[in-house]
Amino acid sequence: MSKGKLIVFSAPSGSGKTTIVRHLLLKEELNLEFSISATSRAKRGEEVDSKDYYFLDVQEFKNKIKHDEFLEWEEVYRDNFYGTLKAEVERIWAKGKHVIFDIDVSGGLRIKRKFPEQTLSIFVKPPSIDELKIRLKKRKTETDDKINMRIAKASAELATAPLFDKVVLNEHLENALIESYDLVSNFIKE
Ligand code: 5GP
Repeated sequence: MSKGKLIVFSAPSGSGKTTIVRHLLLKEELNLEFSISATSRAKRGEEVDSKDYYFLDVQEFKNKIKHDEFLEWEEVYRDNFYGTLKAEVERIWAKGKHVIFDIDVSGGLRIKRKFPEQTLSIFVKPPSIDELKIRLKKRKTETDDKINMRIAKASAELATAPLFDKVVLNEHLENALIESYDLVSNFIKE
């Protein structure tokens, strides 16, 4: 395999995309490797450099933008940059593997636009905004203000679902896992 495929999972936060991506990474036959993003935000808690993210300072990040080293990047909050390095995708392809992304909606769509044939873009849809609210509250990781911010963002993100190749409804996790597995498995056989 000279060039592998790109599998993008995007969704509003709380939709369960990370659970789905982790599940697929355990399936050896799919031959997937996780794309580690670069970020200029500070390391949180137990995060490990070059495992969770490539942590760069703002200047390093901007230099890489200038040298066209990113496949896509975004300034999510002021001075908090996030992006996918071209070298990361090359690293995974060089191992003969397919790349899987757990990335936000706009980053996911940009990757699809750059590699339309090689990319399968999947939008993970929560059953409803109310259900999303319940799930985010259950996580207990954020304040009410932050949850409300995420909900507002989620409504805008939900509107982008039709731009993706496939939409997986995550109402019952077991079904969403099977559906996602089948989509990825068929796509990498193409
Ligand atoms: P967090 O700081 O919680 O790890 O991530 C914040 C946001 O940045 C999330 O919405 C996440 O999906 C997004 N993000 C993470 N990596 C990338 C990336 O490589 N590119 C883009 N565009 N967004 C990313």
